[in-house]
Amino acid sequence: MKCKKCGGVAVINMRHHRLALCADHYLDWFVNYTQRTIEKFRMFGPGDRLLVAVSGGKDSLALWDVLARLGYQADGLYIGLGIGGDDGYSAASQAKAQAFAEAHGLTLHVVDIKETYGESIPELARRTGRGRGKPCSVCGLVKRHVMNRVTLEGGYAALATGHNLDDEAAVLLQNTLRWQAGYLARQAPVLEATQPGLARKVKPLCRFYERETAAYALVRGIDYIYDECPHAVGATTIFYKELLNRLERRSPGAKHGFYLEFLRAKKKGQLLLPAETGEGLHPCERCGQPT
Ligand code: SF4
Ligand code: ZN
Repeated sequence: MKCKKCGGVAVINMRHHRLALCADHYLDWFVNYTQRTIEKFRMFGPGDRLLVAVSGGKDSLALWDVLARLGYQADGLYIGLGIGGDDGYSAASQAKAQAFAEAHGLTLHVVDIKETYGESIPELARRTGRGRGKPCSVCGLVKRHVMNRVTLEGGYAALATGHNLDDEAAVLLQNTLRWQAGYLARQAPVLEATQPGLARKVKPLCRFYERETAAYALVRGIDYIYDECPHAVGATTIFYKELLNRLERRSPGAKHGFYLEFLRAKKKGQLLLPAETGEGLHPCERCGQPT
């Protein structure tokens, strides 16, 4: 397969774009396409300070790398969940995030949950008994709280997360199977700060397949953590991703169409969904954040 731009050896073929590219042209294309996504959804402007939620995985490090290459002022936020002990998942992913920040001269904020709140995520989950042995619901809640707080306290214009098209399509499938109109209304590349105390959230990689962000990270030589969190095993979204991958194998571009046509229809007002007002959120009695 040949690169469409220079005729060299292609490292990736993106059938939904009818585009095969060599390593150099792929890196250029990926950076430009991210900028086009930022502009298309009016995510932020050149002068805005951004906070990137960094997990040490390929998507968040690729996002941070691209934003830095585009010249945005983007700091990172790593949240230490305390999963897996001294040399387990959390310790290993933090090491990757810190090494990336140091190598690129970027600022990384680290919030260690145990140091800050007295208990790690697994300890908190055990004590509260939420989630029947899985710490994910507590973890999601705590992460959202910390990300929101650090974004607001740091005066950042937005919190950027590394969600890719596979993530978004899986959530869309999950919400559609249950016709969860409220969740469908809120699913978007930009979540506006609909009320005081709520940070703006953006997803600049939402138009890339997971294999495309992985290819970018590999070609750029980004050292990321390959392992998923051990608690992700058996997660519903992983099952939906597998279903969508089967669909994609049979009909290339299916995921792309499913997610982007949803956004297009929503924008055109073809879907009658409740307005996204942030209604139903109330300030927490302790910290004042909307919850
Ligand atoms: Fe937290 Fe791991 Fe569950 Fe993700 S899979 S929500 S990181 S505990
Ligand atoms: Zn080329």
